[in-house]
Amino acid sequence: MKQFVLITAALLALGSPVLAAAEIPPLGVSFSQQVVSLDPSGRPYPAVNISPEQMEGIERHDFDLGRGRRLQVVTNLDNPQGRGLDEIARIVRRSYDYLETATGRSLDKGVLIYLIELDSIPLSYTFEASYPADSHWSEVRLALLRRGEQLLGPYGSADLAELIYDTIPHELGHDVLAGIPNLAHDIDGRPSYHTRWFIEGVCEILAKGFARRENSSSLQRFLATRKVGTVLGDPRVRSQLFSWSQENGYEMGLESDLYGASMLMVMAWAEQLGLPALLDRLSQCSDQLCGADLVSLMVATTGMGEEQLFERGYQLGRILREGTYLADRRLQKVGWGG
Ligand SMILES: [Zn+2]
Repeated sequence: MKQFVLITAALLALGSPVLAAAEIPPLGVSFSQQVVSLDPSGRPYPAVNISPEQMEGIERHDFDLGRGRRLQVVTNLDNPQGRGLDEIARIVRRSYDYLETATGRSLDKGVLIYLIELDSIPLSYTFEASYPADSHWSEVRLALLRRGEQLLGPYGSADLAELIYDTIPHELGHDVLAGIPNLAHDIDGRPSYHTRWFIEGVCEILAKGFARRENSSSLQRFLATRKVGTVLGDPRVRSQLFSWSQENGYEMGLESDLYGASMLMVMAWAEQLGLPALLDRLSQCSDQLCGADLVSLMVATTGMGEEQLFERGYQLGRILREGTYLADRRLQKVGWGG
């Protein structure tokens, strides 16, 4: 069964134009997530609409993430506190601390999570919700649970584990990098700057570094899925990595390999300088940084040629697969090891 996921957030004017100015509610942001699964003949399963605004028993729980930031969980969970909602908030708080220590940069905004339990999870669905535009969430995410499913632990929801141990720290990494003014980011529908290898590489280092610390079994799954032990031995991966763009038509296997390869290449760069110093260095560049500029800077700051860096990344992949990275003190510079 194939699955496609589309997440969108759009500013919408929810106020009515006939109201006096003082009565107009603040602009609302509409968040939607669409998952389409295909049956064996390639036809989509019919989509179920899920909207928390029309559900009974919806509650909002706010948690302090420090420095004025907050986590809000919008949920219809039965007995959320008894089932470990506080622990989820503590994990999100630790992901903020981890990201800030590993990057030397600060995160200013909070996270909104929709945590919705249903009798069964539809194969295809459209989730739609809205929240006030002045909430300034850094990330808005959804996790669906089967009714009564455990939240955490060995029998807990796999989707929720992926969200808190992997997706949120990965996406917070994008927020950190968005704060580097001259680092060019690809936008859908526009020509690529070919910075994707660097941006996804940093985010994967952070996400997997956090997962390693919190939940090492999810790290092992990643290392296996991304084939880190062999991926940089593949000439096709090496030849495509620095021109990797948002819209590329690659099959899912190559796309997944490129995430793993990106992580290893940024590790090969950051293990020498340290991730905070590397990001500081990029912040000080006065000109726009495209992918080719990043490759030149990587070669200049490491004193290694591209081929040598590929070889070091390949070697790091084997070290990770064998689990011997704990002995490699240089990986502490990327927030791993130790
Ligand atoms: Zn990403």
